Amino acid sequence: MTAKVKKSEPAKTALITGANKGIGFTIASQLAEKNYRVFLTARKARAGKEAAERIGGETSFIHLDVTDEASIKAAAKAFGAQHGSLDVLVNNAGIIVDGDDKVLQLRARQWEETMRTNALAPLLVAQAFLPYLKKSKRPRIVNISSGGGQLDGGADGWAPAYCISKTALNSVTTQLASALPKFAVNCVCPGWVRTDMGGSNARESVDDAARDLVWLIDEAPQKLSGSFLRHRKPIPW
Ligand code: NAP
Repeated sequence: MTAKVKKSEPAKTALITGANKGIGFTIASQLAEKNYRVFLTARKARAGKEAAERIGGETSFIHLDVTDEASIKAAAKAFGAQHGSLDVLVNNAGIIVDGDDKVLQLRARQWEETMRTNALAPLLVAQAFLPYLKKSKRPRIVNISSGGGQLDGGADGWAPAYCISKTALNSVTTQLASALPKFAVNCVCPGWVRTDMGGSNARESVDDAARDLVWLIDEAPQKLSGSFLRHRKPIPW
């Protein structure tokens, strides 16, 4: 009598933008530890390749500058050549441009660069990877936003272009959640985290912050969609 071979679940796949360092890199590492097939993307090819090598296992590097539509298309094609379906897209890449500290002096260039990277790019990247996400049994899009994007409580003057872009990203999230009812599409504030962006005085370690994000990526109920979360709980918009 032949033993019945139990088929193991195929590894889930995740693609993360801006993952050569900081929160994106740590999410990639934690997902690889959970046996995900990770596609780590970055605009800096050498830093991205080295980051993927540091994680090891089945982690692959794909070049992706989220502000460049040709790069987004090329990355989607490169992904398609390696893998048929994508379970999770994490739109993590984000910037605060130099001098983003006074709304009354904000320049068009600062606004455009910030909005392009933080709000438009996540939508364009989601569109490009949609054919692969649609092949997943439980497709998810996680947009890394910020409490700075909350309209609740008003603005405090800090990083206006960045905050406006994260408000827009939250709105991109609700639009995608409505257009993709079978998906879980959420945005999340990681807290104030010790990275190059958050600085050394930030309250949370990058490992702790990434654990909450990985919960949303991997364990949160699929029916949780169109929400804005921090520390695993919905927060006001
Ligand atoms: P970080 O260490 O500065 O990392 C940002 C990442 O985004 C880097 O890998 C950077 O790549 C990448 N990136 C920027 N522009 C890109 C582009 N055009 N194409 C591809 N990648 C690009 O910051 P972080 O703290 O990890 O931030 C990650 C996310 O969390 C961001 O969306 C941020 O807004 C959000 N967040 C952070 C905090 C915090 O306290 N740290 C709080 C709230 C929200 P390069 O190395 O090439 O620059």
